[in-house]
Amino acid sequence: MVCCTVPTIDTPEFQKQAGVTCRHAVHGCAIHATRPDVCRGYFCGWRQMNIFGEDWRPDKSGVFAELETDIPEHLMSSIGISLMLIANPLKTIRQPWFVDFVAIGLSGSIPLFLSLPGPPGHKGAKVLLNTPELIRAATGPRGAVKTLLEKALKVLTGYEFSPYVMQHHGHDAGC
Ligand code: SF4
Repeated sequence: MVCCTVPTIDTPEFQKQAGVTCRHAVHGCAIHATRPDVCRGYFCGWRQMNIFGEDWRPDKSGVFAELETDIPEHLMSSIGISLMLIANPLKTIRQPWFVDFVAIGLSGSIPLFLSLPGPPGHKGAKVLLNTPELIRAATGPRGAVKTLLEKALKVLTGYEFSPYVMQHHGHDAGC
């Protein structure tokens, strides 16, 4: 139920700020049978893509993966993956399984983004990982990929997170 806390939900029928746990999230969704359409139709990357094993479950891995459609034109792909670090970012990006996933994804030309959530009510930050430096590193020893991921994380942690202005009001499910 990481998706009941991490993302912003801003639809006419239902709103919740990023980083604020929905008040219906109590040992599962307390209104599961009547939950709003936005929840009914939402699946994070871990639920949507079979490239993620059980270990990638967001609360276990510390990675909230999502499909990303805002892809720079030069990558010639309409879809990519955002890897949002939701628990101990530095520890996560140093894990061999994480470094491997990034290296394999970059070698396969999958657009990948490293992302950090902002404080509650703020937009997150993301950086594209498909840089010439990282793509080159992905073909060699994993140590170089890890070092470049640490560099990318440093960029993200220095980011000035901007507040998200809700477009809809009246059905705020934030606690
Ligand atoms: S209403 Fe939606 S966001 Fe709230 S607990 Fe249920 S599924 Fe999660």
